[in-house]
Amino acid sequence: MYEKRNKKSSEAKTGLTSLASLGEFGLIDRLTRNVKHFHPETLKGIGDDAAVIEAGDKVILLSTDLLVEGIHFDLTYVPFKHLGYKAAVVNFSDIAAMNGIPKQMTVSLAVSSRFSAEALDEIYAGILMACEKYKVDLVGGDTSSNVKGLMISVSIIGEAKKEEVTYRSGARSGDLLCVTGDLGSAFIGLLILEREKSVFKVDPNMQPELSGFDYQVGRQLKPEARTDIRNLLLGIGVRPTSMIDISDGLASEILHICKQSGVGCKLFEGKIPIDAHTRELAKEYKIIPSVAALSGGEDYELLFTIKQDDYEKIKDISEITIIGHMTASSEGKYMITPDGKSIPVTAQGWDGMKSSFQQLP
Ligand code: ADP
Ligand code: MG
Repeated sequence: MYEKRNKKSSEAKTGLTSLASLGEFGLIDRLTRNVKHFHPETLKGIGDDAAVIEAGDKVILLSTDLLVEGIHFDLTYVPFKHLGYKAAVVNFSDIAAMNGIPKQMTVSLAVSSRFSAEALDEIYAGILMACEKYKVDLVGGDTSSNVKGLMISVSIIGEAKKEEVTYRSGARSGDLLCVTGDLGSAFIGLLILEREKSVFKVDPNMQPELSGFDYQVGRQLKPEARTDIRNLLLGIGVRPTSMIDISDGLASEILHICKQSGVGCKLFEGKIPIDAHTRELAKEYKIIPSVAALSGGEDYELLFTIKQDDYEKIKDISEITIIGHMTASSEGKYMITPDGKSIPVTAQGWDGMKSSFQQLP
């Protein structure tokens, strides 16, 4: 409250708007409010996981991400190779979220003199490992010196058939809400790494104690993109009505689908898939396990909706869990707890979670 008043009064004095008062999405909305398109081939611009551009009988999918040292990664515990791998994979995930296939990428680096060529070699070894696994061609980029720190920007091109593209806006009331894999482990992995970081700080010669947490730490440091889901769904004859990848946490992504599709939702807390060990660890950190899934982020699983008629086709697929359904917008956006309480779905957001738990022992 105090901070807010201060912000307001300083805004009143300068007549300028602070970025903090806008937030990330507010800023993007403001910067892009005058955008217009000149080409009919631009089927979808800003507002989804990737832009969609018509190209003959197919569409090109285009997305970009920027990773900044100290904001998106901490080199105290992120190995360079993992950083390269993750920078590539999070982009592949955006293409998977459009139901497309990632094909080509560019990589841009801004790097300070603090880094050696060998460190950057490692980043590229990670990037190329991801390219090999996902069969994506690295086709260009840009390289610059930087005053301080490291920044990596990756742009990705993907491909899909026009009728197969899944937008955030396609969900309808009655559709089933589904998620791949399990959620929350990447956030618990981050907490473990942050805890070990404080050990590092006290004694830089100490090795971090990460054994026994391989799954959670692996989910944080070396995520995978669910490019396999497209084929899985094709194989069982299910076309998602909407889709998004889970980078910011389940709650925030559900709200994106609700907003862009103009629907509400009923999410069942007890149905959210969470790894058993992650559940135990969450409790040790005094976090309700579903909160790690709802607000933690960085799991890079896919959240999608399907028509109710497809229930039989999907109900026995182990990689997919039905966690709720979409409702009319007027019914609101609610999560039902195992004891039957209705709680409004709100997005606490990744940054808030991260900073509030960074202080943990
Ligand atoms: P994601 O989490 O899937 O990477 P973002 O939340 O970063 O997506 O971005 C939301 C939408 O806003 C995307 O369509 C993205 O391309 C667009 N966007 C983000 N930043 C900018 C910017 N500076 N200028 C134009 N468009 C932007
Ligand atoms: Mg995305």
